[in-house]
Amino acid sequence: MESKFKEAVSGKSERCNDTDCEKVADLLNAVVDGEVTAEEQEFFNAHIEDCISCFESHDKQKLLKGLVSGHLKRIIVPESLALSIKAKIQETV
Ligand SMILES: [Zn+2]
Repeated sequence: MESKFKEAVSGKSERCNDTDCEKVADLLNAVVDGEVTAEEQEFFNAHIEDCISCFESHDKQKLLKGLVSGHLKRIIVPESLALSIKAKIQETV
């Protein structure tokens, strides 16, 4: 568990800075809900392309939301895969 955390932290690219990460963390929920402006979305996209840790938290958030609201059904994902992803998320949180 601890090594995973360190990995995420050291995986930050040099272009990534903490202020941006904080902004992205603030935007995260709104982005997942699709409630951001085009400008915010652009900033968010650009950041998670460079920042592994923000990308991972966005991915996790998106997956959780999808699983909860059932949006994953629109994508063709085998039930077993969805469940194993869910289990993985719970392991790493
Ligand atoms: Zn970041």
